[in-house]
Amino acid sequence: MSCPSTALPTKPFPRKLLIASNNPHKLAEFREILAGFPLALTSPHEEHLDIWPPETGATFAENAILKATTFARASGLVALADDSGLEVEALAGEPGILSARYSGVQGDHAANIGRLLSRLQGVPMEGRRARFYSVIAIATPAGQVHTCHGECSGYIAFEPRGSGGFGYDPVFFMPEFGMTMAELPSEVKNRVSHRGRAGKAARLVLQEIFYIGVQSEEA
Ligand code: IMP
Repeated sequence: MSCPSTALPTKPFPRKLLIASNNPHKLAEFREILAGFPLALTSPHEEHLDIWPPETGATFAENAILKATTFARASGLVALADDSGLEVEALAGEPGILSARYSGVQGDHAANIGRLLSRLQGVPMEGRRARFYSVIAIATPAGQVHTCHGECSGYIAFEPRGSGGFGYDPVFFMPEFGMTMAELPSEVKNRVSHRGRAGKAARLVLQEIFYIGVQSEEA
């Protein structure tokens, strides 16, 4: 007699994961973070999904879940979404969930950095502690949702430096490297970043959802 709670589904999900983001930088980072993992990665653009779910949640987790569930439902695929941002101690956690639109203009990274630096004018280095935070939500078309998080600590530099990454990377100084995140090679950023760390936890969730053995991940 079979036990329904432990029986494998007769039709497993296709080994295809939708990275639920329209941000080309995030897509590129996830392709690197999940490199070698035995799943075909796809994007909303490749699936012809022209969806921009409004980020109306009050927390990173709510927004990540909103994005992942919307895209999983629309595509019929397992979807992974990240909601992330910068939290500055001296500014009581600002810009937080407003990171992408801190200056008032969605996605204007230079203006967001400008506002951040002016809000921190006169604050010495030791008072400029900050962290990047990422919540990854993974949703199945059947309605299951899992979340993982990751964070990365640093300081807000006095001026931008470096041309890699995106967003606040040029002003996110990491003392252990003596560089801003925008000066780090992408493979280093993706190993130590908030998104890289959340992604490491997400691999375990994906292994369970897709029944991927550790051996097949390494193969
Ligand atoms: P989201 O797309 O709503 O998650 O917005 C994330 C925003 O947080 C981005 O637009 C950036 O301003 C900031 N952010 C998130 N992750 C990073 C990162 O890895 N580097 C720099 N800025 C980031």
